[in-house]
Amino acid sequence: MRRSFLRMLFLVMAVLIVCGCSTFASKPPRFQRLYCWGIARGEENTRKFAEIGVTDIRVITQKDYDLAVKYGMTPYCGTFLPVGPYPQVITKEEAAYRDYVKGKDLDKALPKEERAKILLQRKLEKGYRYGGEPDNGAMNVMTFDTPCFNSDENYAMSKKKIDEILANAIPGVKGIYFDGIGYTNLHGCYCEKCLRDYKAFLERNKLDDTQANKDLFYRELLVNYFNAMIDYVKEKRPDFKVLAHYWPTFQPDPLFANRTKVDYCGQTVAWYFQWPLDKVANYTKYVLKHEKKYHSNSEGIPFVGLNAKQGEALAYKPPEQLERELQTILAAGGRTLLVCNGHDMIKPGFYEVFKKYCSPSN
Ligand SMILES: [Zn+2]
Repeated sequence: MRRSFLRMLFLVMAVLIVCGCSTFASKPPRFQRLYCWGIARGEENTRKFAEIGVTDIRVITQKDYDLAVKYGMTPYCGTFLPVGPYPQVITKEEAAYRDYVKGKDLDKALPKEERAKILLQRKLEKGYRYGGEPDNGAMNVMTFDTPCFNSDENYAMSKKKIDEILANAIPGVKGIYFDGIGYTNLHGCYCEKCLRDYKAFLERNKLDDTQANKDLFYRELLVNYFNAMIDYVKEKRPDFKVLAHYWPTFQPDPLFANRTKVDYCGQTVAWYFQWPLDKVANYTKYVLKHEKKYHSNSEGIPFVGLNAKQGEALAYKPPEQLERELQTILAAGGRTLLVCNGHDMIKPGFYEVFKKYCSPSN
């Protein structure tokens, strides 16, 4: 009697385990949180964002805010970009590269289309990566100026900019987006103050003047600037979360950003230009594994670049490639995602891919 009862119990448990496993197996992992680098603008677009599983988005107007809330998304203000009167200084060689890529030498009277054609050609010729990691370490210089991260005036003006953003934020937003905080040449700034402070840094730490030590110095400057601006946001709005995309890349150490105090640390694991999938996997694993190495509040968020338009110097990413990348990030353990261009996420072909891997109804 007792034995048959035990046998029955065993059978029931076995059935439960098998059922549980098959339920689990039929539900592949999906992204739980999808940060969109777009705006909740217009009823139809915002509904589509919600359908593909967007959970976090920027809002500029009260109408955007109302739509984001209506569709259950967390709204943010921004975007904060560094400002200040003292731009970074780059080498002559880097300046020549930049001037060529941005067509400084071109006749101003050139018809618009002609000019665009030449600029497209030059960007392709030089392997311009729009602030992403260059192929084989080739020189890449951003086409716009960014302020030096070692200037009191630039710090003061950046804080003033944050004041402005916070003052204009729609009441109820939960945080702020940061962008564009990096080096014009992806390495460092060679203004007088930076060079002087670099020398003092070597003396203070008893280091030799090597490229590796230069990289350490410029990484520290960058991290200090980020942390000062994050601290400033928290001082004014302790309730705010800060989300950042780390761009342009810091070429000597592309995944340095866990050193910053940010809440949502958007580090690129798949750029607009297609990266090999093993690189996507390795970067994702690194971003997740080391997310709290320096700051316990910080969450590593895999960032994916997406351009849905063909024929541009910024690479087009076909939906099939996007799907492969999302599968790779999921397999590497990623459950959150930050995507730019936000508006491309709901275009036909891409909408379906995000819906498949991010929608809560899946
Ligand atoms: Zn400088």
